[in-house]
Amino acid sequence: MKQAILLNPGPVVLSDRVRRSLQQPDLCHREPEFFDLQDCIRQRLLDVYALDDADWVAVLLSGSGTSAMEAMVSSLVPADGELLVIENGVYGERLSEIARVYGITHTAVAHRWDQAIDLDRVEQVLQQSTAFTHLAVAHHETTTGRLNDVTALAQLCQRHKVKLLIDGVSSFGAESIDFDQWPIAAVAATANKCLHGIPGLSFVISLRQQLNQCQPRTLYLDLNRYAKAQAKRGTPFTPAFPAFYALDAALQELADQGGWQQRQARYGQLAERVRQCLHSVGIEGMLPAEQSSVVLRSYYLPPGMSYKLWHDYLRDQGFIIYAGQGHFSSEMFRVSTMGQITDQDIDRLCRAMRAGILEGLNSSASGDAA
Ligand SMILES: *Cc1c(COP(=O)(O)O)cnc(C)c1O
Repeated sequence: MKQAILLNPGPVVLSDRVRRSLQQPDLCHREPEFFDLQDCIRQRLLDVYALDDADWVAVLLSGSGTSAMEAMVSSLVPADGELLVIENGVYGERLSEIARVYGITHTAVAHRWDQAIDLDRVEQVLQQSTAFTHLAVAHHETTTGRLNDVTALAQLCQRHKVKLLIDGVSSFGAESIDFDQWPIAAVAATANKCLHGIPGLSFVISLRQQLNQCQPRTLYLDLNRYAKAQAKRGTPFTPAFPAFYALDAALQELADQGGWQQRQARYGQLAERVRQCLHSVGIEGMLPAEQSSVVLRSYYLPPGMSYKLWHDYLRDQGFIIYAGQGHFSSEMFRVSTMGQITDQDIDRLCRAMRAGILEGLNSSASGDAA
């Protein structure tokens, strides 16, 4: 089967270097070779944002991005703590769902999925209670492609002495995360989005001080258990070691390519080309470019075309786009530009999209005539 160009928000098309890394020897996870690899990845993850390991710890978990979100929220909000959750899409709502499942005292500031965070409303809620210890937010809300304004939120948190728990699953490695200025307790992320590894490995970057502050609420996703074991060159359970090989290679590649700043620039160029191409045939983005991440954009479907028709047409041309979630599924589609995607791939995509839209308009015009 020929490799399709994946424009879904992870898993991504791998580079040859990452794919080749999977050919390395099988490993026992209780031997020094595995622990060398684990140590190396934990350091490289801190290096992505130049973090000092005196202050920060990278904790690895075998599981998808949601396992890192769940480990972060369930392990870092103490029994007497209280969580404020910002919801403006599926992933913000998932943060609330995690709090609900674990019986964590929480309040949500809910928004429509196409809305930016209403900072006044957040501030009002923070003013009404001094009990909040943490605020959870999806940095890049992948539901719509919105890059939430965490800088503004961070200032509110600073003022109200609240720590941030950030879902950085679709931003870590490609967007700015200000570990110095934002009052961050932890960021949850994954190997297989902006870092270009394979699925099966996720991680939490936590402030050291935040660890060991609370009793575990879960056995398998207890962040402290992983942090303790990994600090002593151990692992509590069987890790997805092939995903470690891939992430190690992917992090080396990211560093060689100039780090997150270069990746942000690269994704931004590709996303902008897709936007211009669609704009030229009358298809607009749901959000203005300046409110969008570089990682993913959402667009209105071509008039008169169903998502299925549009998806299947592009799939035949070798491109996998992504549906809208919930009520957006009949209105929009999403295009992510993560992974090993070349300029030529985007040229071909643009030609295919333009041709498809013109054909689609023709067929609906002939349908009208009939
Ligand atoms: C992809 C994603 C997740 C996690 O999804 P998994 O399917 O568990 O990997 C969480 N948050 C955001 C913002 C995401 O984009």
